[in-house]
Amino acid sequence: RTAEGERVTDSDSDRAWQAVDRFREVYGTDPAGVWAAPGRVNLIGEHTDYNDGFVMPLALPHTCLAAAAPRRDGVLRVHSGEAPGGTVELRVADLAPAGTSGAGGDRGGWAAYPAGVVWALTGAGLLPDSDDGAAGADLYFTSTVPTGAGLSSSAALEVVTALALNDLYELGLEPGEIARLCQRAENDFVGVPCGIMDQTASACCAQGHALFLDARDLTRRQVPFDLAAEGLRLLVVDTRVTHELGDSAYAARRAACEAAARELGVRALRDVRIEDLDAALARLAGAGQDDSVLRRVRHVVTENRRVEEVVARLDAGDVRAIGPVLTDGHASCRDDFAISCAELDLVVTSANEAGALGARMTGGGFGGSAIVLVEEVAAEAVGKAVTEAFAGAGYAAPRIFTAVPSAGARRL
Ligand code: ADP
Ligand code: MG
Repeated sequence: RTAEGERVTDSDSDRAWQAVDRFREVYGTDPAGVWAAPGRVNLIGEHTDYNDGFVMPLALPHTCLAAAAPRRDGVLRVHSGEAPGGTVELRVADLAPAGTSGAGGDRGGWAAYPAGVVWALTGAGLLPDSDDGAAGADLYFTSTVPTGAGLSSSAALEVVTALALNDLYELGLEPGEIARLCQRAENDFVGVPCGIMDQTASACCAQGHALFLDARDLTRRQVPFDLAAEGLRLLVVDTRVTHELGDSAYAARRAACEAAARELGVRALRDVRIEDLDAALARLAGAGQDDSVLRRVRHVVTENRRVEEVVARLDAGDVRAIGPVLTDGHASCRDDFAISCAELDLVVTSANEAGALGARMTGGGFGGSAIVLVEEVAAEAVGKAVTEAFAGAGYAAPRIFTAVPSAGARRL
């Protein structure tokens, strides 16, 4: 490992060796290597990626690890330390998306995520299928990314699979290409209509930085975000609730945004400039569009502006100044995009009342996690205030941890 010049934290290294041991127990051979891909929180830019807009995620220290070895018999075997049911064995040639009769595409099964990545790589003509046999792999996963908490455990699982195969078969894919293949796997194989943010964050983030991504042309820039040097902390508060509304509401929001863009004659809401927002809203109202549609548009247009504002303030070295922009972003998610919930709202109000610099929900909404920007010296008191507010409201205790801006996917 050190020979490759990688810097591995102790816990990464310990977990990597455990993954090697578990791989040997499960498959009876040695893996060829161990790879890691992180979960993420989104600093700002919610529901903007599928509107061709801006997002700004950072990678968490929490990672999904994969110990992996190639196979030459066209068989894919996957096993997760977090999923019951043991090893799932699939034939690469039989992989087919959700809703079709092929193997691995049933929506409920976790194996659809890694299988979808192999399907996307095969579909792109990237996996070798030569005289010495069709490509396959044995994969053992173990993850510290909480699942279903809005922290992108699914993207971490996809990206670590893609990176392992990229290295095992020397495919030479760039991180951005890996992200796109993983998004295709989740959209077309698993059947989840997500944007490009989560996979790009997991594949492309850099330690000590947030990633400014233009979801239209996929250009990206690492923006310095060194919280410790500023005496600041970013807390993640996992509310531990997931409200059922999530899936259908996401589809409804996408549909509303696309309909509004059509009505306005633009390719995507990204193309509505903040200066033209009032005129655009008037035009939508004149065309008989519902007030809720107008509010969805206002969220997307103002949210893109907030991402640019956060980038400008970070570029100027004024990290504390992003606090109010985060809180404004929460109000927009709550009031205009209507994707918050009582638990997320309580994190934001209780944290801000206790002296946080700013706070907002992060991720798709309807539960999951919120982020809180605080002075390091106030972090404990603010965390305690949020926990007490939850107890007072009769909610289960939230899980609170610090988001250290961490590295993207890598070989260990
Ligand atoms: P999020 O990505 O926000 O955590 P999703 O619903 O998009 O939530 O993805 C969660 C799903 O991803 C889980 O239900 C499971 O199918 C899969 N998954 C994530 N991590 C693992 C893991 N370590 N082992 C098995 N499946 C996992
Ligand atoms: Mg996900």
